[in-house]
Amino acid sequence: MKSFERVQPQSWDEAVAALAAAKKAGVSAEAKGAGTELVDRLKEYNLAPDRVVDLRRLTSHSSIQRRPSGGVSIGALVTLSTVADVLKSDFPALADACLGAATPQIRNAATLAGNLCQRPRCWYFRSSEFQCLKKGGVECLAKSGENEFHAIFGNDTCAIVHPSAAGVALVALDARIETLTTGGGRTLAAADFFVRPEADILSENALKPGELIVEIHVERPQGLRSAYRKIKQKQAFDWPLADAAVAWREEGGIAKDVRIVIGSAAPVPWRAKAAEALVEGKKIDGALAARAAHAALEGATPLGKNAYKLPMVAAVVRRTLLASARLPDGTEAFG
Ligand SMILES: Cc1cc2nc3c(=O)[nH]c(=O)nc-3n(C[C@H](O)[C@H](O)[C@H](O)COP(=O)(O)OP(=O)(O)OC[C@H]3O[C@@H](n4cnc5c(N)ncnc54)[C@H](O)[C@@H]3O)c2cc1C
Ligand code: SF4
Repeated sequence: MKSFERVQPQSWDEAVAALAAAKKAGVSAEAKGAGTELVDRLKEYNLAPDRVVDLRRLTSHSSIQRRPSGGVSIGALVTLSTVADVLKSDFPALADACLGAATPQIRNAATLAGNLCQRPRCWYFRSSEFQCLKKGGVECLAKSGENEFHAIFGNDTCAIVHPSAAGVALVALDARIETLTTGGGRTLAAADFFVRPEADILSENALKPGELIVEIHVERPQGLRSAYRKIKQKQAFDWPLADAAVAWREEGGIAKDVRIVIGSAAPVPWRAKAAEALVEGKKIDGALAARAAHAALEGATPLGKNAYKLPMVAAVVRRTLLASARLPDGTEAFG
């Protein structure tokens, strides 16, 4: 690891000012939440900043606020464990996505904002020995190389799968992400926060240099139903081979405003729009969930070594839909 200067701001304004000052001085700087992902990259020489701006000890944007509307605002520094504990009954999709990620030790430290901004796990990207398209090289090495854990949707340019489980749930829940820079802040729909490689090959999100996430807002409309399910290689902690989050409003027994989002399958949390259209306005049952699971594969373009993911994606979509309707889905509940 290259040595770096550690900056400990006293406020979020100081944090964004420190990042802006570094940029102005031509000094490379990175923000740090708990560091469970960032420090790995520093150790692997995937990243070698001159400064690290440590957000972890800031006291604001570190709790969950309930709003009179029934929605919540989740501070950027809230840990995955806290989200899983506190929001289990309000937003099972988000709580289970956080509960299913990593290990208890990591979840107790890892922040929600850090989870959304973590960089891809593609082994070519992580290894200092390869210079692929995402690191300024000329080609995607995974497409013709080792791609068993890579994308089966939207993989034309770069075939990463976005690593954030919370992101899958937040897109399904149509959450909004509030940011801060020295120039003020803005609020983005979660779906617009994640950007495809065709829009920006060097980043997976819409944050500008020096821009930080401060809050994540989630509404809770009347009759909200949601669920998250994950298929992994081993029962102990593991990254998903396929995961999905589903959210909809129950109105007179039928599903309205259906959002079905697939994870671990595309460079961004991937909305299965054909499946959403199929389920919209209907009562969810086993037969409909099976048809939607099939529709969720529309547009898939598996690579040489990852076609095995197709039945997994279909299975996880079917199970998540059933779980969201509180029907048996054949899997054990999280937690
Ligand atoms: C063994 C293992 C298994 C894992 N399994 C899963 C899994 O199944 N699902 C899953 O989703 N994750 C998984 N993870 C990843 C884990 O969830 C992340 O490492 C963690 O959420 C990152 O949070 P952090 O606070 O430590 O972020 P950091 O490491 O501090 O930061 C990560 C990135 O986010 C940026 N960042 C941090 N805070 C902000 C902010 N407020 N605004 C803007 N940018 C910010 C940093 O600059 C950095 O680029 C796993 C990790 C490990 C080690
Ligand atoms: S999938 Fe993306 S990160 Fe991985 S080798 Fe291809 S361009 Fe690089």
